[in-house]
Amino acid sequence: MVSRVIPVDPFDLTIFGGTGDLSRRKILPGLYRRFRAGQIPEGSRIIGAARSEMDHDGYRDMVRAALDEFIGTDALDPDVVAEFVSLIHYVAIDATGEKGWSELKELIRSDHISAFYFSVAPSLFGALAERLQSNGIADKTSRIVVEKPFGRDLASAQALNATLAAYFDETQIYRIDHYLGKETVQNLMALRFANVLFEPLWNSQYVDHIQITVAEIVGVGGRGGYYDKSGAMRDMVQNHLMQLLCLIAMEPPSRFEPDAVRDEKLKVIRALDPVPAEDIVRGQYAGAEDVASYLDDVEDPESLTESFIAMKVNVSNWRWAGTPFYLRTGKRMKARSSEIAVVFKDAPHSIFGSRSGHHRNILTIRLQPNEGMTLTTTIKEPGPGGMRLIDVPLDMTFADALGQHEDLATDAYERLVMDVIRGNQTLFMRGDEVEAAWAWTDPIINGWKERGDRPCSYEPGSTGPEEAQIMMHREDRRWRGIQE
Ligand code: NAP
Repeated sequence: MVSRVIPVDPFDLTIFGGTGDLSRRKILPGLYRRFRAGQIPEGSRIIGAARSEMDHDGYRDMVRAALDEFIGTDALDPDVVAEFVSLIHYVAIDATGEKGWSELKELIRSDHISAFYFSVAPSLFGALAERLQSNGIADKTSRIVVEKPFGRDLASAQALNATLAAYFDETQIYRIDHYLGKETVQNLMALRFANVLFEPLWNSQYVDHIQITVAEIVGVGGRGGYYDKSGAMRDMVQNHLMQLLCLIAMEPPSRFEPDAVRDEKLKVIRALDPVPAEDIVRGQYAGAEDVASYLDDVEDPESLTESFIAMKVNVSNWRWAGTPFYLRTGKRMKARSSEIAVVFKDAPHSIFGSRSGHHRNILTIRLQPNEGMTLTTTIKEPGPGGMRLIDVPLDMTFADALGQHEDLATDAYERLVMDVIRGNQTLFMRGDEVEAAWAWTDPIINGWKERGDRPCSYEPGSTGPEEAQIMMHREDRRWRGIQE
């Protein structure tokens, strides 16, 4: 199936932190792919900015090397690369200094869309925003893109919002949660709001519970120092899992427009109950023969930060009261797998008797790998011998159903950067959403700190601590397996 690419208007995109890991690994390769797809019009400029002294050609060499490393030399078309790097420029700028700003101003054309990607530490956001305005580089039509983490608690998120609001209107601020750029995550909205099939069942009358799992095989590796100050709750739950929960739980917005969607997500976050300690299990991965433990990885034998969390979350509104959402995420787990499972209630009465077993419909939405959906359906087991029931999957893997659809491989970053250029904020978090998420998260994290709670240990390559299983069994439920 051929994908339809609609070119955006010419733009000048400045990437502060243009020499950093995120730029090299995600942003620049993503822009190359969009260029190759024909979405970036001629005359657009991509301007790297960082403190390192370099000329345009030096930066172009760095970009070529990043494409080689993160896309793969064999997958690159040399002619397209040559055209792409001709869009690239570089300015040496210290976010906190005065040098380089007039050079940047000269590179940005007033008849182009201008966007500024803050791919630097959040402590530099204020300095960048201030200098973009005081040097007359940004105007009312400019957009800024800010990376996670957006704060580490409510107070810091409020401070960051206030800093940005001093220089830019909320309609100009694009807070990235790259989960929202994933194809399957957007498909959640299509699934819910473009099909009549699910919506009548999408409530506590028919849904027993929902499980959201994001499991990673990797440990914290070289990011140990950073991760240890954060932990699974801040790094994954407050943003990515919360966004998934919102898309599953929200009411249908009246239109697929940025504020209509974000208003509904915000209502969900505000409807979350506080979570008591007994409904949360935190874990740290232990070591194995050739695997370092979490405590070795972060080099702090006393660390109380969690690399795994499982929790039961209640959404207190008419649609969901009585239907818990179970969230689970961890590092060094058995497989890399992200999925949402909507587990429906039992049929009200079994006409087949108790010997037919216990069967339930489960709608599983796989975000990765093998993006797709499965609806577990109960049928009669073939053959003589009476009415025996079995569960079979109605399975749809998007790659099979749609063929080699190029857009399925589109990385979240490239999709989101193009949305910035189009001026579409639907898949970006609004300031009040982020603050509401922290307002719910803060008391949970503070509770651990006040009580000095210790995370449980779990085996690397497992499904997390035994205590997480016990938490589910207590409620007569089971976690779904974690499979590749
Ligand atoms: P990084 O590899 O440390 O890169 C930081 C970049 O900022 C470099 O280009 C650096 O270049 C530049 N920089 C540092 N101080 C500066 C200053 N005073 N003025 C101008 N430029 C300055 O960091 P990163 O991993 O790319 O992360 C960037 C941001 O994205 C962070 O907020 C991070 O939390 C977020 N993020 C990263 C990832 C990821 O996968 N890497 C994922 C999600 C979010 P010079 O040293 O030459 O100035």
